[in-house]
Amino acid sequence: MTKKTYQVYEHRFEGKVLLVTGGASGIGKSTAEKMARQGADVIVVDMQMSGAEAVAKNIRELGGNAFAFQADVTDPKAMEAAVAFAEEKFGALHLAFNNAGIGGPAGLLADIDIDGYRKVIEVNLNAVFYGMHAEIPAILRAGGGAIVNTSSILGIVGEATAVGYVAAKHGVTGLTKAAALGYADKGIRINSVHPGYIETPLLKNMSAEARELLISQHPQGRFGTDEEVADAVAFLLSDRASFISGSQFLVDGGYTSH
Ligand code: NAP
Repeated sequence: MTKKTYQVYEHRFEGKVLLVTGGASGIGKSTAEKMARQGADVIVVDMQMSGAEAVAKNIRELGGNAFAFQADVTDPKAMEAAVAFAEEKFGALHLAFNNAGIGGPAGLLADIDIDGYRKVIEVNLNAVFYGMHAEIPAILRAGGGAIVNTSSILGIVGEATAVGYVAAKHGVTGLTKAAALGYADKGIRINSVHPGYIETPLLKNMSAEARELLISQHPQGRFGTDEEVADAVAFLLSDRASFISGSQFLVDGGYTSH
């Protein structure tokens, strides 16, 4: 018997406008491309314009709609400009993925550099506030929508040598809950996604020993892929997640179940 195959086309984001930060690489890039394939109009925000433009161009070549926008997410005015750009290009903003992030300084608390600590708090936590501060009024103007913020397994559990990163990602968890409570009855669902270690350029400087140790801490015995996180984010931003708000959505191969 010949096996029947089905070409599945999903149109779940048709007519929806999505803004993705950190969209030039890794999890942000994968999410921008996946949601564009499902019909979203996408604004790819990143500090690196060439990377953001490459992602937007690729989406356009595949028949989707996307524009790149250069912004440093730690600049509240730049985030306001990114939102205004989305409204100018596509007429509205419905969905946002506040995802840009960096690794922080490594070391025990008393040994880490204060400027490095401040930087990771600014990029990984405060920028999520700046992003939502600019996005929420636009999403309300559009009649409602959804936001996902990227936290981490380190927004759920600690790690002795990632002090700033852990503090920032726990902060994202709290910020997301507070915002979700504030806007649940106003038509905006807000959730955080918590990836385990994911094969992206963020891990490029990791030693072979550190990789081996971290892989062994994931019960599935491997790192995750950006595609696996993008699937979860797309679900949370879709109407299929209509009763999910203020949640901490784990994509961690079981890491935090220990
Ligand atoms: P990635 O491949 O390095 O992508 C992050 C993107 O954000 C890069 O293009 C980066 O540009 C950009 N970016 C950094 N700082 C920015 C700023 N101030 N303004 C605008 N853009 C900025 O990393 P990823 O792994 O996809 O990480 C995405 C998110 O997932 C981060 O929040 C990260 O903390 C989180 N996360 C990652 C993992 C993991 O294991 N990979 C695990 C848990 C959570 P540059 O390349 O120039 O820095």
